[in-house]
Amino acid sequence: MLINLTLSDIAQACGGELIGVDQVVSSVVTDTRKISEGCVFVALKGERFDGHDYALNAIKAGAVAVVTDRDLDLPSYVKVVDTRLAYGAIANLVRAAFHGPVVCITGSNGKTTVKDWLAQSLVDKNVLKTHANLNNQIGLPQTLLELNGHHDVAVIEAGTSFSGEIALLAKIAVPDVVILTNASGSHFEGLGSLEGIAKEKGELISGAALDATLILNSDDAYFDYWCSLAKGRQMYSFGFSSQADLRASNVELEAESSKAIFHFCDEALPVLIAGAGKHQIANGMAVVLAMLALGVEFRVAVSKLATPVHVSGRLERLRTKNGALLINDCYNASPTSVEAAIDVLAIQSAEETWLVLGALGELGDQRDEIHRGLGLYAKNKGISCLICVGPIAAMAGFAFRAEGGNAIICDTHEEAATVVRPLDKKHAILVKGSRSAKMENVIEALNN
Ligand code: ATP
Ligand code: MG
Repeated sequence: MLINLTLSDIAQACGGELIGVDQVVSSVVTDTRKISEGCVFVALKGERFDGHDYALNAIKAGAVAVVTDRDLDLPSYVKVVDTRLAYGAIANLVRAAFHGPVVCITGSNGKTTVKDWLAQSLVDKNVLKTHANLNNQIGLPQTLLELNGHHDVAVIEAGTSFSGEIALLAKIAVPDVVILTNASGSHFEGLGSLEGIAKEKGELISGAALDATLILNSDDAYFDYWCSLAKGRQMYSFGFSSQADLRASNVELEAESSKAIFHFCDEALPVLIAGAGKHQIANGMAVVLAMLALGVEFRVAVSKLATPVHVSGRLERLRTKNGALLINDCYNASPTSVEAAIDVLAIQSAEETWLVLGALGELGDQRDEIHRGLGLYAKNKGISCLICVGPIAAMAGFAFRAEGGNAIICDTHEEAATVVRPLDKKHAILVKGSRSAKMENVIEALNN
């Protein structure tokens, strides 16, 4: 850990009470399988578990104390009101001791891509970044607690599934650089409306350090709103219109990459962007602005975009046994990311483009309408065939059919795999759906 934490430091930061003797802790752990000698164990409660059940085991395994929301029959513990908030407060103690910049990324789409791309582009820095997609109230503190004296910069993803979560995360991470990629209709159920989403994301701006640099998408409908939250913080925008501080022009979209000219201040540079789709150019611009904020030269920053960022399950290019191009985008889906992925499918050089779509989750009462809209979108983009898995995704299929398209409705992943298995190299197949739709089962079935 970056600093020597004592139990009394922890109690103070959490507004809790230390019962027992004060001592220094070696690490902060929430998983009993990761207990090491001298650590403090934070007893978190999840949907399926309660860490308090493991408190005694934690002590037996070497923990010096437990952070708990109740009195325990233990020699040493810190009693707090809410252990989850306490975990964040402890992470904030470590963050406060870190003198390098903390970059935080939020938005509806592109957070992980921007996070991984930025982290890999900062080649001469020792970067701590969020592992995989651990972007919530547990994952974000967990990442910050890994800060050590060798790190130069932290690149952290902040996600949200309930109103107020981003504000909590901002309070823990206190970003020096904020990247807000966009707001789109994901997670409606938790946040009510698109406006609710934009407000929630905006909390990262309001919670940023007062001298923070903000990186905002000027093409987003909520750009002006987010600017209104800046309150004197330095702001740079990116986008495709002339008002953006970093602007992309002369865009050429190809099957696996894109070209553009990036304009910043008086400079204009040709850029090769690894990764297909206009959305990837937007993500690339956000990455470049973050590098500029961290002191990297414009020319060097744009050169990094030629190196692809590999995020498993996101527009990953594979081949089926019969030679069809298989674009695996199963990791997750929101309406905007489905459209972005359809755009990429539509520009592949294959004779036929097939979309295998699973349901999108968390759309509240707009669910059916949004699925129908995606069916129409696919039809308008010239997709050859739409395969829908399950009754919710089927809404997209009905809309696709109503416009004269060929849609196949399947009940199971295996059935969908059976339909696409015979397709050969003349075909490009995109597989996409929300996490809950488990569309990776289609990819797996195709591999068997
Ligand atoms: P999550 O909320 O699941 O953590 P995320 O914001 O981290 O998502 P990514 O994992 O980077 O987003 O990308 C998810 C999908 O969204 C990708 O497969 C890609 O197709 C699409 N996507 C990425 N960036 C954008 C963007 N800027 N605009 C629209 N869609 C995007
Ligand atoms: Mg993510």
